[in-house]
Amino acid sequence: MITGKTRLAGVIGSPVRHSLSPVIHNAAFAAAGLDWVFVAFEVVPGAAAAALAGMRAFGIAGLSVTMPHKDDIAAAVDVLDPAAAALGTANTVVLRPDGRLAGYSTDGAGFVASLRDAGVDPLGLTVAVLGAGGAARAVIDALARAGAARITVVNRSADRAAVAAALAGDRGFVGTATDIASASLVVNATSIGMGATPAERDASPCDVGLLSAAQVVADLVYHPLETTFLAGARACGAQAIDGLGMLVHQAALQQELWTGVRPDPVAMRVAAEQELAARELSSR
Ligand code: NAP
Repeated sequence: MITGKTRLAGVIGSPVRHSLSPVIHNAAFAAAGLDWVFVAFEVVPGAAAAALAGMRAFGIAGLSVTMPHKDDIAAAVDVLDPAAAALGTANTVVLRPDGRLAGYSTDGAGFVASLRDAGVDPLGLTVAVLGAGGAARAVIDALARAGAARITVVNRSADRAAVAAALAGDRGFVGTATDIASASLVVNATSIGMGATPAERDASPCDVGLLSAAQVVADLVYHPLETTFLAGARACGAQAIDGLGMLVHQAALQQELWTGVRPDPVAMRVAAEQELAARELSSR
């Protein structure tokens, strides 16, 4: 029951109605018995600072931030965590008791948590990251913080690859497809494989013949959950890790920042899987 004491958190974005965040966060609030509710706010591009003013005015305890507001939010909050400061982007805002707004980036740490959940420690690993967009940069920054030995970025646009690789300092390199075969961890951080059409879903960010049984292969794409890339990894005996783990763990880190309570990632994952399955059915 929502009462006068119920705390509010939400996601801002545009478009935002497709967001899985309300389903994931509300499932965890319910599982933990917390008197919190999570909603989606459609905030037009350019209105991030106004949204923060609204957050303060309404006493909204926490915000999740999605496209296109992540950079604007990082620039507008009072203080940033190290990952958000390095990336110049924030996906989480906490309204502190003193009224200050703190920005965080939980995407990369969520990815590393999803690896650890699958029994994979990035410490000392040689990594190939495919892609150099916002998600790739968060992953590269977090893998470097987690002690990866070498991170090679393979991307269509070389200039973006160089910017992304620089996040890993002297452990970051720009590479080519040949670096995929020699990596112990291969991460698809491009949007290739995502989509509604068969052609989009058949696409793979690299030739799956480059993958092998000794590798761990992770995909950030979670719709569909089993991408062509991950299916290829499984077929050759590699350990395959899907993108829902990152989505769930970055949300779990957000919720812990807002409430101080570590949520149950299993409840979050089950809710997300059910919602994705329902969407899949209704799209047929
Ligand atoms: P983004 O900033 O738009 O970056 C897209 C990346 O994909 C760029 O590196 C781009 O290369 C590459 N790319 C796109 N189409 C391509 C094509 N046809 N051929 C070659 N390269 C192509 O997107 P993002 O925010 O980083 O998101 C990337 C993916 O991660 C999306 O599928 C998103 O849903 C997923 N994601 C998942 C999570 C999670 O929690 N699991 C979180 C965030 C994002 P160029 O640089 O050359 O354009």
